Amino acid sequence: MNIEISYALVAGLSTVLGGLLLLYTHLKRVNVRYMIAFAAGIIISTAFFEMIPEIPSNTLIVVGVGFFFIYLLEKIVLIHACKEEECSYKYHNVGWFSLLGLTIDNFVDGAAIAAGFLIDPLLGVTVTIAVFSHELAQGLSTAIIMRDIYSNKRILFALLIAALLTPIGAYVSRFFPSMIFNNILAFAAGSFLYIGASDLLPEAHEKFNWKIILSVFVGVAFILVAGFFLE
Ligand SMILES: [Zn+2]
Repeated sequence: MNIEISYALVAGLSTVLGGLLLLYTHLKRVNVRYMIAFAAGIIISTAFFEMIPEIPSNTLIVVGVGFFFIYLLEKIVLIHACKEEECSYKYHNVGWFSLLGLTIDNFVDGAAIAAGFLIDPLLGVTVTIAVFSHELAQGLSTAIIMRDIYSNKRILFALLIAALLTPIGAYVSRFFPSMIFNNILAFAAGSFLYIGASDLLPEAHEKFNWKIILSVFVGVAFILVAGFFLE
């Protein structure tokens, strides 16, 4: 198995890990929010400090395309970090339709990991860390939404399908022409910015607590320190 596919597999499976943590442990809601805040710090700083600096200026416009694509996708299919009470009226939507949204996102994540490795192995590792942490947060928040309607088995099955799309995205992207890898990276950077700032941060701040802010900056510091040492 190629390295990018194994990394993508591990990062994708964190979606399932998030679901398992929520369904089978007694995680306190406030601790879930610390984890989501940390993940927000990680993906936003990965996009700003690791991915965007690698993108050639004529491709930067694709960052905006990724941002708005994920915005549309989420507002239509309702995936990442949705607040329970506000999702309740759309319960009928939280089924195969939201699974579709999850899988598209995981596919993009996998392609981004592969593109990262192709451009620079260290970038590949950083993108993997970013995918791992936000997918963990996504697994947690999807399980929060779905647990009142579906059995644990069904939730985990849905998360597993989404998870497997990450290595599939990494695998399929090897058939893409190498000149579009910068575009994939830019697209994923835009999607990371949207997910981090529009989904994860508001969910983490559902109630105010200064330790939430601290968790965000611990995530930011983690990426800065990792970037420093990896180089
Ligand atoms: Zn994702």
